[in-house]
Amino acid sequence: MKYLIDTHTHTIASGHAYNTIDEMTRKAAELGLANIGITEHAPKMWGSCGVLYFSNLKVVPREKYGVRRYMGCEANIMDFTGKLDLPDKILSQMDIVIASFHTPCIKAGSVEENTAALIEVIKNPLVHIVGHPDDSRYPIDMEAVVKAAKEYHKLLELNNTSLRPIGPRLNARDNDIQLLEMCKQYGVCISLGSDAHIEEDICNFALAEELLKEVDFPESLIANMDMELMNSYLLANK
Ligand SMILES: [Zn+2]
Ligand SMILES: [Zn+2]
Repeated sequence: MKYLIDTHTHTIASGHAYNTIDEMTRKAAELGLANIGITEHAPKMWGSCGVLYFSNLKVVPREKYGVRRYMGCEANIMDFTGKLDLPDKILSQMDIVIASFHTPCIKAGSVEENTAALIEVIKNPLVHIVGHPDDSRYPIDMEAVVKAAKEYHKLLELNNTSLRPIGPRLNARDNDIQLLEMCKQYGVCISLGSDAHIEEDICNFALAEELLKEVDFPESLIANMDMELMNSYLLANK
């Protein structure tokens, strides 16, 4: 396995994903994946688990079947000040925090408003990764977001699920090309996330890889290929 971690996966706790933590870990071991990020949707997503679920993640052993588990969340951005739907105290206990726009949780604003929200999220020391900033339903000033990620040492996600033709996100391919070109230009690292909702999709980066090839994206800017680099982001607030 060329990649050392998949930073974005979901289990049955998210309400619309289909495997357990144990099944996801076993599958990662089978694939020869050394690390997995398990990032359930935070409470404001319909049908996902509640605050207590996240506050009790301390009971989950971080190592099983030879796989290191990064237990975290995909928090929902709730407004244009970058407010998230979990208390800071709980976010600070997470191994990995992704923050994303999701339609059940926030109605898109103007480019200025959406961009301001992402920049506030990037400034939040408890957030590690901006999830799928590639959705024209939430248009943003990509350059401003990439520059903020550089300044605050945050990862921007290249989300494989966004690139599926039947995927929910709008115009993701073009937006991701723009994202990658700007990350190249400013030397900003990305994080590859499968956004798996089923074990078969763990580390499925097939569509993302096509795009990386197309824009000749340097491997040195893919944090999933170097855990020291990845941990410089994930452990920055620890
Ligand atoms: Zn989901
Ligand atoms: Zn998401």
